[in-house]
Amino acid sequence: DTTHGAILYLESISVVFDGFKALNNLSLDIGVGELRCIIGPNGAGKTTMMDVITGKTRATSGSAFFGQNYDLSTLSEAQIADAGIGRKFQRPTVFEHHTVFENLELAMKANKGVQSTLFARLKSAERDKIASTLEMLRLTSEHRRPAGLLSHGQKQWLEIGMLLMQEPLLLLLDEPVAGMTDAETERTGELLNELRGKHSLVVVEHDMDFVTQIAQGGKVTVLCEGSVLAEGTMQQVQEDPRVIEVYLGR
Ligand code: ADP
Repeated sequence: DTTHGAILYLESISVVFDGFKALNNLSLDIGVGELRCIIGPNGAGKTTMMDVITGKTRATSGSAFFGQNYDLSTLSEAQIADAGIGRKFQRPTVFEHHTVFENLELAMKANKGVQSTLFARLKSAERDKIASTLEMLRLTSEHRRPAGLLSHGQKQWLEIGMLLMQEPLLLLLDEPVAGMTDAETERTGELLNELRGKHSLVVVEHDMDFVTQIAQGGKVTVLCEGSVLAEGTMQQVQEDPRVIEVYLGR
């Protein structure tokens, strides 16, 4: 049973838009604690795949399971988020006028279904959790600053931190290093390497140096024309003639 221990199973997923197959019998399993990189040329179906996983787009056919229990095709976007799938889009969406600390606090309280108020006092365990997350994000010294004053990279890290406050089992990141400086990109790689094992992660990324940094011994999946073209270590997929063709042939 190849799917044993996976957190996400996509089986023969197709998505048809006006007769056009954005996904074409896509099958993919993500293991518990795995960091999976998804690459592929523009139009390969990467965004559509993320949209199917989060319930934003419905599959035309095929099945999608989260863990053993959740049939994603039967759940709303909100139910999928509650089940433990967090998604970060390319553009950071932090509360610019709140401090860095408050952003994490609001994200934590939103998770508890408590009204998003900053007046309810934090328990010390909650305060500790925010402090350790700030530490991991290298944002401790910024915690009193309004989030709007952070650099682009720091905002992206803060948003990852906000997702972590919701204690997701699976984190989906869409081009997390787009627009970052080289130093920020490298730091993001370190951060994702710290998260692997504790969370399952799916990272869609165009920056191949960054993919090499985070893929390490892990698997890379190459999408093309709505299905999996190749899967393996970064080295294996880079040497695959079909992969070379789709990247160089355009
Ligand atoms: P990627 O993220 O890999 O660039 P996408 O998932 O965005 O690819 O798109 C896959 C294909 O599906 C593209 O050809 C795109 O034009 C098409 N597509 C995506 N969303 C829609 C939509 N809502 N309606 C029609 N076609 C779409």
